[in-house]
Amino acid sequence: MHNLEETKAKIEVFQQASFPLEIGQTQREDIHAKLHSYTDQFLNNLSEEKAFYQQGYENRGPIPALEVGESGIGLPNILNTYHEEVMQSGINAASGGHFGYIPGGGVFSAAIGDYLAAVTNRYAGIFYAAPGAIRLENTLINWVGKLIGYQGNFGGNLTTGGSIANLTAITAARHAHKIKGKDLEKTVIYLSEQVHHCVPKAIRISGLEECIIHHIPLDAEFRIDAEKLEELIIDDKANGLNPFMVIASAGTTDVGAVDPLAAIGQIAQEHGLWFHIDAAYGGFFMLTEHGRSVMKGIEMADSVILDPHKGLFLPYGLGMIIVKDLNKLLAAHTFEANYMQDSKDFNLEYSPADVSPELSKHFRGLRMWLPLKLHGIAPFRAALEEKLWLTRYCYQKVKEMGFEMGPYPQMSVFTFRLNASDGNNDSINKAILKGIHTDGRIFISSTQIHKQFHLRFACLSFRSHLREVDLFLEILKAELDKVLK
Ligand SMILES: *Cc1c(COP(=O)(O)O)cnc(C)c1O
Repeated sequence: MHNLEETKAKIEVFQQASFPLEIGQTQREDIHAKLHSYTDQFLNNLSEEKAFYQQGYENRGPIPALEVGESGIGLPNILNTYHEEVMQSGINAASGGHFGYIPGGGVFSAAIGDYLAAVTNRYAGIFYAAPGAIRLENTLINWVGKLIGYQGNFGGNLTTGGSIANLTAITAARHAHKIKGKDLEKTVIYLSEQVHHCVPKAIRISGLEECIIHHIPLDAEFRIDAEKLEELIIDDKANGLNPFMVIASAGTTDVGAVDPLAAIGQIAQEHGLWFHIDAAYGGFFMLTEHGRSVMKGIEMADSVILDPHKGLFLPYGLGMIIVKDLNKLLAAHTFEANYMQDSKDFNLEYSPADVSPELSKHFRGLRMWLPLKLHGIAPFRAALEEKLWLTRYCYQKVKEMGFEMGPYPQMSVFTFRLNASDGNNDSINKAILKGIHTDGRIFISSTQIHKQFHLRFACLSFRSHLREVDLFLEILKAELDKVLK
């Protein structure tokens, strides 16, 4: 035991030294002003800023300015460091000129949601701790579940992204079908070669890597051939195997292909397979009429994942899984503990912790709820419609320049390449991409189609409008003229 007077003296010393952690109002106002001045400048200049800075790739190793020390350095210094070491390198994902990978943009109102969630710091893992926060998040899950056509006892979880959502879905499927170690070598998972790489990654992490993976043949537009899927399943059953799960995509990353969901759903139902749909990229096009028509059958899935940080233009850090039968998601993830006993009598709604690997979690629903409440759904719907039309416009214009085109876009992605007269296609298309990256006002990425280098255009930022697409076309034309000279 310590002497009580000495103990109190110690407390006094450390209390004083820890005071800087609680910031008073005057200082808060100063911080707000400085921060807002930085973010306002960023947003006001954004349309003139580059979409890609070909910097930050020069040196290896830690950056001294980023190291933390015993004493603070003040916000102005911090913002300078942030600007120099973070903002002046790589892809400017907030830019409307970002047409690479899958853009999103990051609506400002979501940042307000994050700020509010962080300052008030409600514990959004357990219903008992924050019933209002959990109800808010479950309201969002309900809205999206209905959007994809689910009814009845569906449920889900707000994840950090699509990869974790896929992992959660595959885990629920494994549990629902009672797949154990001894079953693995006879268990079959069916998927397309075009599936996002986080799917095989999730299969590995969830312990299913030793299953048989059958790649379903694809049609000319990179969609699953449903008839071939059924043939595979029938064959596998005849050979004593256990067809377990089929994974389809609603918008593949490479070309934005939507698999024939209704046909796959029918087959999955008939043969008793878990049907999972990765709609990380395409899911929110359900807000548009075109999206609802190409994704017909999405409601037949046992589980669907979506990425609000793509299709709802939120900043990175929000994915979503929805499972048709909530009980199956609960069964795979619910655990109890002695120290959690107080919460047991308060389960009017399921908790995020009951349907995910997480316990303590960011109140991440607020970054989605606040923008939807503030703007309403209508402008999100309009922005998605706009992306579809911009992509069709761009496709036609790129085709008119003489490029060899990939499939007509089902959503807002397409691939293209120059078919060079000397047959040196890869190097000439790489030269075009390099030219675009060096310019930097627009960013696009590339991919491999049938093992050949292709350029790729993806339009999903809420900040991408006709102006940005026309700028892309102008730059592409200039690079094309350069390589043809
Ligand atoms: C982006 C994407 C993912 C991965 O999602 P993250 O949010 O990046 O983890 C999975 N599937 C598809 C189709 C995607 O476009």
